[in-house]
Amino acid sequence: MTDKYVLRCTSCNRIVPDRFTSHCGIGHNALVRTEYRKKQIDLNSSGGIFRFSDWLPVQGTIPTHSGPVTYRSEGLSRELGLRNLYIGFSGFWPERNASIMTCSFKELEAFPSLLRLHELGGGVLVLASAGNTARAFAQVSAITGIPVVIVIPEPSLHRLWTTIPAKNLYVVTVQGDYTDAITISQKIASEGRFVSEGGAKNVARRDGMGTVMLDAAFTIGRLPDHYFQAVGSGTGGIAAWEASLRLRADGRFGSALPKLHLSQNLPFTPMVSAFREGRREIIPDLDMPDAKSRISRVFSDVLTNRSPPYGICGGTYDALNDTRGAMYAITNTEAYSAGKLFESLEGIDTDPAAAVAVASLMQATEQGIISPDDTILLNITGGGYARIREEKDYQAFPLPVSASVPAGSGSDAVESDLIEWVKGHARR
Ligand SMILES: *Cc1c(COP(=O)(O)O)cnc(C)c1O
Ligand SMILES: [Zn+2]
Repeated sequence: MTDKYVLRCTSCNRIVPDRFTSHCGIGHNALVRTEYRKKQIDLNSSGGIFRFSDWLPVQGTIPTHSGPVTYRSEGLSRELGLRNLYIGFSGFWPERNASIMTCSFKELEAFPSLLRLHELGGGVLVLASAGNTARAFAQVSAITGIPVVIVIPEPSLHRLWTTIPAKNLYVVTVQGDYTDAITISQKIASEGRFVSEGGAKNVARRDGMGTVMLDAAFTIGRLPDHYFQAVGSGTGGIAAWEASLRLRADGRFGSALPKLHLSQNLPFTPMVSAFREGRREIIPDLDMPDAKSRISRVFSDVLTNRSPPYGICGGTYDALNDTRGAMYAITNTEAYSAGKLFESLEGIDTDPAAAVAVASLMQATEQGIISPDDTILLNITGGGYARIREEKDYQAFPLPVSASVPAGSGSDAVESDLIEWVKGHARR
């Protein structure tokens, strides 16, 4: 290990060595954050996300063109009367050099996360996901051969595909919902040779998503005044804030932090509800009553996290306050029409979550929260699902299911089979 970076607890400032570590060891309810030795970032010549490897918690790189893309909007910019609107696009759109094959910014998390774990020698990664995250990690496993265990609710299985065959994946389907999948993945991860991916607490995940802000700063030549994104966990918002803090310290991109404008999809908007009352804590009875039924009614279900890293030290609440940010609640109709508008004006299809972000930008414009001359970064966190199907050599490989278990079962339901699989696939 080199001293490229250290991890520092955002609560007590203690420095902790990185062993795929996600807390300071004293038990603070706080994120640890990477602190890079290089305060000024140099872009390197590798393609895609590893252009930014100075500020990624990994030593090596994975050859890939997958990475964030920023361009200046014309169509939507004219429509909304915003003169300096930039789009951060994470998806598939070859005309704009966007090559994220699984079509969402979850791939920006998957590349550095898997490489970090592989370099630190920390065991086999286990994650629970209902869609975009699982597909992204499956794709990076397929590219690198690094083994991954994915636990997914059975109804979401159709979202799991890769564009090259994945040979080192173990897929567990759960007859239940996302919360049931999380429970089972935690049981598996508690066994010695497995490691939980860590979600927002995983610094590689945050710094990977933060490359959207880095790419924007280099494209625009400065930090934007505003950052718009739809959130479920809020990890992308935290990541954008942390990247801004590093860019401010870099000195070449200005000194004002971009304001975070984060949006959720009605009727499930727990963070909007808590934030608008100035509360650090989400109170389930107040902020997300009838959660299950509300979750079933949203346009974008990737935005429905029931326990987001909102109040945790260094989390979404702190990010919003430090940047004097705002939150938006968007209806299904608003999101749907915003997505259609974006597609017709910019020329690419969007993930439903990205459509929510577009709607929030429209709301902020109408309410005069932003000014026509402000520099704005709109994070289109996913898109190009329709565009990629037009590629003539495109193929989606569905993933074979290794085990299927009922909700609430213990890890022993898959344990012996999994251990045999690990012997065959993971040599560490
Ligand atoms: C996961 C996801 C989001 C929400 O991201 P968080 O910052 O983790 O809340 C937004 N858009 C898309 C397309 C996603 O897959
Ligand atoms: Zn601490």
